[in-house]
Amino acid sequence: MSIAQTDRTHGARSSAELIGAEAPVLAHNYHPLPVVVARAEGAWVEDVEGRRYLDMLAGYSALNFGHRHPALIEAAHRQLDRLTLTSRAFHNDRLAGFAEGLAALTGLDMVLPMNTGAEAVESGIKVARKWAYEVKGVPRDRATIVVADGNFHGRTTTIVSFSTDETARAGFGPFTPGFRVVPYNDLAALEAAVDETTAAVLIEPIQGEAGVIIPDEGYLTGVRELTRRADCLFVADEIQSGLGRTGRTLAVEHENVLPDMLLLGKALGGGIVPVSAVVARREVLAVLRPGEHGSTFGGNPLSAAVGSAVVALLETGEFQEHAAALGEVLREGLAGLTGKGVTGFRSRGLWAGVDVDPSIGTGREISERLMREGVLVKDTHGSTIRLAPPLTVTEDELRSALDSLERVLLG
Ligand SMILES: *Cc1c(COP(=O)(O)O)cnc(C)c1O
Repeated sequence: MSIAQTDRTHGARSSAELIGAEAPVLAHNYHPLPVVVARAEGAWVEDVEGRRYLDMLAGYSALNFGHRHPALIEAAHRQLDRLTLTSRAFHNDRLAGFAEGLAALTGLDMVLPMNTGAEAVESGIKVARKWAYEVKGVPRDRATIVVADGNFHGRTTTIVSFSTDETARAGFGPFTPGFRVVPYNDLAALEAAVDETTAAVLIEPIQGEAGVIIPDEGYLTGVRELTRRADCLFVADEIQSGLGRTGRTLAVEHENVLPDMLLLGKALGGGIVPVSAVVARREVLAVLRPGEHGSTFGGNPLSAAVGSAVVALLETGEFQEHAAALGEVLREGLAGLTGKGVTGFRSRGLWAGVDVDPSIGTGREISERLMREGVLVKDTHGSTIRLAPPLTVTEDELRSALDSLERVLLG
């Protein structure tokens, strides 16, 4: 290997050089903050030059347990030394335990293991349609799925077919038919859209990408009752809201409702490997038979080992409790900033969407200023930033991030 190749492989270049090197060779489908992370532990990341930042984004909630949680790293190492991939052509000795654990954790019966969030959503759509034809009796190819305005469910062709974000759709048609979009948090509109062709209502219990939009108390209960009455499935996309983020294992628990189908991802892979799953009642997932759906990597032993370790962490309830307790600190801190640069915020557990006075800056500009203060966040839309630290963040770390935000807002 030449020195230049070694250099490329081992990254001995500066942040500025590395950012410059990306532009000609990397698709520009993201606009990252100008920070080049080289290592991380817990709630902290370190860049190429050794500067440290508090990670208040946590991989869009893929890092709920922080960077390199020791129990997760240990589970991954142990599995790497034994078996990593079999394909589902054979059984592996880790998958049964993962599926049992995840079903017990969520209160549902059966698990379909996949890899990314978008794949879980796609799989959920396929299962809901098949359920509609085989169980509900919807005429062939007529099934509809009702979704909400402002949704974010991923980036595949079918999923962007029912996005209401023009940036996510423009240039990617033709789109998949069979979706009806209604306003979020509006039970009357939902009721009007559901009919005898409806396979499912697919919603996020809290809309993350839209800016952490929390529906009114009673909305999720209403969706549960309506879908039961209309004989269609309630599918909750908990890919971002689930697995401890809101102070409960699932966001739907805040209203004590159990959907027919849950879509999980992000934190399920412990920040180590992509792991997602459709978790559902037995009669729903039972519509899939051999050959009808699959994934080469879905349910691989490395993913199952890490996923099992994630389930074990959540079974203790400690992360949910900590997120609920520190969620109060976050809420009080943001309430204290309201009127001082913050025009409004929505929070549940360790998850907040914070609207910043646009005269202070766009969400992007606020994020850049916070970065210079040593705090990493991400804007969602316009002047809204999202705060979602690892659930392992300490009270001192959280308070210091709030202090940084106050300094940025005061200019
Ligand atoms: C991130 C996300 C997805 C898509 O997950 P990917 O792993 O990026 O495909 C789907 N739904 C919600 C609610 C998400 O936050």
